[in-house]
Amino acid sequence: KPIVVSGIRSTGQLHLGNYFGAMRNYVRMQEEYECYFFVADWHALTTHPDTKELENSVLGVLAENIAAGLDPEKVTLYCQSAVPEIAELYLLLNMLAYQGELEKTTTFKDKARNQPENVNAGLLTYPVLMAADILIHRALYVPVGKDQEQHLEMARNFAQRFNHRYGELFPGPQAFNFGAELVKVPSLDGAGKMSKSENQLATLYLADDDDLIRKKVMKAKTDSGPTEPNSEMPDYIRNIFGIMSLVSQESTVEKFRSDFNNASIRYGDMKKQLAEDMVAFISPIRARAQELRRDTDGLRRIMERGAEAARESAQRTIREARRLVGLEYLK
Ligand code: ATP
Repeated sequence: KPIVVSGIRSTGQLHLGNYFGAMRNYVRMQEEYECYFFVADWHALTTHPDTKELENSVLGVLAENIAAGLDPEKVTLYCQSAVPEIAELYLLLNMLAYQGELEKTTTFKDKARNQPENVNAGLLTYPVLMAADILIHRALYVPVGKDQEQHLEMARNFAQRFNHRYGELFPGPQAFNFGAELVKVPSLDGAGKMSKSENQLATLYLADDDDLIRKKVMKAKTDSGPTEPNSEMPDYIRNIFGIMSLVSQESTVEKFRSDFNNASIRYGDMKKQLAEDMVAFISPIRARAQELRRDTDGLRRIMERGAEAARESAQRTIREARRLVGLEYLK
């Protein structure tokens, strides 16, 4: 079976973007691939140094993934910090990553702008740790959203440099989505993507209650509507159509699309419909996650079992990496 790896940071509650960019693909891949999915708690420290909520967030990410359909019997679910081999590979890869390329990474520039008081080296080397997460299992496919495309390209570069310098060990991992393109779920205010830690009122969380979902959807940015048939669609309206096509029936989306083209669309009606379809989509996941979250010991056991399996795979890689790099003299 081809090997698959992906992770989600424990930086808060999961949202629609995480679901459609990542989790939905995890669930679809679990039958036919060897899957390693992890909660990225080390990655969380780059932007969330306060760890009071960390454990809660780790367990929440796990519960929401299982609620979305992941089966712990079929996939290896673990916490990043429980697999120290990842840190060792990260160290080795750091010698093959250059300051210039790391400084040019879009996510680094964005995050550095957001937290000028804490531009730490972990933030700068985030793509290196992400490459280590993937390469530690010698994965071929990485189901991620569009925001991770550049990181994947860097992971391929680091893998290639390692292979070239020390000998063939890593395949070139590819970003993966079942559709043709990687997904980006836009935020409801028309600016940027839905995200765990930014823009919380413009992001729909899998834990939001029905009224909050309705309120957020009704607040999504619209205008008074087109005045002429076949007008150009503004980006923020295109985003609402995009979000609608994720959770509503195709016929519903088509109806509003033709209303738009006839210049007869009523955005209030469209948002009401979207709100109800969104409630129908989110509420069963939320209910399952709440139930799972109550069984903290059960969640811990799942992660302990997962960490054991993940470490076995990681140790195989790190032994090879040490040998190829020439670090075997102490063994
Ligand atoms: P944070 O705001 O803390 O950076 P995040 O919401 O961006 O968090 P990550 O943990 O960085 O989430 O990413 C987890 C997965 O979800 C990744 O595969 C990422 O590509 C995907 N993802 C995150 N946001 C979106 C989005 N709006 N649309 C599509 N995919 C997304």
